[in-house]
Amino acid sequence: MQLSEIYRPGSLGLSIEIFPPKTAEGDAALWENIERLAQFRPAFISCTYGAGGSTRDRTTELCCGIKSRFNIPATAHFTCLGGTVYELRRWLEQARASGIANIMALRGDPPAGQTGFRAVAGGLTYANELVKLIHDEFPEFGIGVAGYPEVHQEAPNADTDLDNLKRKVDAGADAVFTQLFFENANFFAFRERYDAAGIPVPLVPGIMPILNFAQIKRITGMCRAVLPEALSERLEAVQDDKEAQFQVGVDFAVEQCRELLDAGVPGIHFYVLNRSQACEAILRALDYSPAVI
Ligand SMILES: Cc1cc2nc3c(=O)[nH]c(=O)nc-3n(C[C@H](O)[C@H](O)[C@H](O)COP(=O)(O)OP(=O)(O)OC[C@H]3O[C@@H](n4cnc5c(N)ncnc54)[C@H](O)[C@@H]3O)c2cc1C
Repeated sequence: MQLSEIYRPGSLGLSIEIFPPKTAEGDAALWENIERLAQFRPAFISCTYGAGGSTRDRTTELCCGIKSRFNIPATAHFTCLGGTVYELRRWLEQARASGIANIMALRGDPPAGQTGFRAVAGGLTYANELVKLIHDEFPEFGIGVAGYPEVHQEAPNADTDLDNLKRKVDAGADAVFTQLFFENANFFAFRERYDAAGIPVPLVPGIMPILNFAQIKRITGMCRAVLPEALSERLEAVQDDKEAQFQVGVDFAVEQCRELLDAGVPGIHFYVLNRSQACEAILRALDYSPAVI
C-alpha cells in the first residue's frame, strides 16, 4: 500500500520499523518477531538502511521477505549516503523491480567513528534532493521523510529545521515520520508549528518502547531525545530488574500512545528494535485492531 492511501479518517495507520541484523541468528529471530507483529496487520513494515550506506542489499532483501512471507507492504529506508546519483538511481530501479511500495528518503547519519556528515562526491547532500529525485523519476513509490519534534541535532534552530522539513514535503513527500520522542508536549508544540506552516501531509509520531534503561539512555543521547525526569526516575528505581524496566517501558508507551490517539494522530510508527514483545503488549493494551481504532 502506498503511503498516500494509508492515512484516512477513522483508521489508524500502524507501521513498524526494523533494521537488518548482522548475523544469521539475528535474521532467524527477526522473522519470528515479524511473524508475531504481522498478526496486527500493520499498514507497512519499514527496514532501515545502515549508517553510511552499509546495508544496501540487506535492506532490499528484507523488504522482499516482508512482502513475500507476510503479504505486508514494505518500505525501504534509503539515504543520500547510498552512492553517487547514478548509483542511487540503480538502487531505486532494483527496489522498484522488487515490488517495494514506499521509500523513506533520508540524508543518513555518518558511519560510526566519523564526525560530521560528508556527502558522497557526485551524490546528494540533503534529503529534499533525494525526495525530488524519487518523485521526479520514480513516481511509483510513496515517499516518507523524517521530522524532528525536538529539532534535528545539526539544525541551528527550530524554524530553520521546520523550513527544511517543508522543503522535503514540497519536493514530493507523502508523509512525515518523527524521530522518537517521549515528551508528548514537545510533539504537540511541533504539530502546532507544522500545521501553522501549512504542511499538508500526515505527521506520524515515532514511538520507541523502552526495553531497558541503559539502552534508552544511549539511544536518546545519540538522537538527543528528551527523557522526561519522571520516566528516568521510574526506570532508575528498577535498574537492577530487567523485567521491571521492560514493564515500565510498556506502561509508559501505553500512556503516551493513548494521549496521542486522543489527540487525533493519523498513525503510529513503532521503532521496535527487532523485538515484538513490547509492541505486542502495547497494542493489546490499546485494544488495537487493524482497521479502526
Ligand atoms: C523515521 C526515521 C527513519 C530513519 N532511518 C534511517 C536509516 O534508515 N538510515 C540512516 O542512516 N538514518 C536514518 N535516520 C536518521 C537520519 O538519517 C538522521 O537523523 C540524519 O542526521 C538526518 O536525516 P534527514 O533525512 O532528516 O536529513 P535532512 O532533512 O537532509 O536534514 C539534515 C540536516 O540538514 C538540515 N538541512 C536540510 N536541508 C537543508 C538545506 N537545504 N540547507 C541547509 N540545511 C539543511 C536539517 O535542518 C538537518 O539539520 C532516520 C530518522 C528518522 C526520523
